[in-house]
Amino acid sequence: CGIVAYIGHRQAYPVILKGLKRLEYRGYDSAGVALVNHGLHVYKKKGKVADLEENLVGKNLQGTIGIGHTRWATHGEPSDRNSHPHTSTNGKLAMVHNGIIENYAPLKQELLNKGYTFSSDTDTEVLLKFIEDIQLNNECGLEEAVRIALRRIVGAYVIVIVDQDHPDTLIAARKGSPLVIGIGKGEHFLASDASPIVEYTKEVVYVNDYEVAIIRPDELILKNLGNERQTPFITKLDIELAAIE
Ligand code: GLU
Repeated sequence: CGIVAYIGHRQAYPVILKGLKRLEYRGYDSAGVALVNHGLHVYKKKGKVADLEENLVGKNLQGTIGIGHTRWATHGEPSDRNSHPHTSTNGKLAMVHNGIIENYAPLKQELLNKGYTFSSDTDTEVLLKFIEDIQLNNECGLEEAVRIALRRIVGAYVIVIVDQDHPDTLIAARKGSPLVIGIGKGEHFLASDASPIVEYTKEVVYVNDYEVAIIRPDELILKNLGNERQTPFITKLDIELAAIE
């Protein structure tokens, strides 16, 4: 399973698709992408990345911001509807997640009691709607809602979220599962490991547990769950592209 995301000046889809293929060795049962370009466009499917790609020929795949996912099902069978990205009730947010939200059941019950409905059986959709609910109730921004939500989450995760109303920002966070951010000129690359990133940049930041990253083309901000700025520690990759091809 794996995550790839991009924000910058290139078309996001080819970068994401190639990156997902580089992560195929990790194993998966479904794949999907979300792109923002005058609204949110989400495509996902059970099966191989190549099946998704074939299905998307002729579709609107424009956009310089996007997220991609390969899923290893833990909650809900492998199927189109359980594939990621998942979307919020208002249709504005899309999220990918690797890992497990261990306390998803009581959170889901809380949300069901409030009238939320679910279009998948995943723990991931529960986390996204939990974030959406916090954003609505606290009238706060997405970044703050993510921090508040994650303080209540038990489990392991890498998440990346796009918001169609803020097509200049990706929000990502991790605990337990790895997340690498590649730093380019006016662009950033996110992935579960460095293999999708190495051909674009050698400068990377490994996000720490319980950190939230706010990523714009020209800016990378790391905060802990208490909203304190953390200094990104930039390391140089010493792997060559040839080594992974
Ligand atoms: N727990 C999530 C699901 O079942 C994510 C699985 C994964 O890591 O790909 O959809």
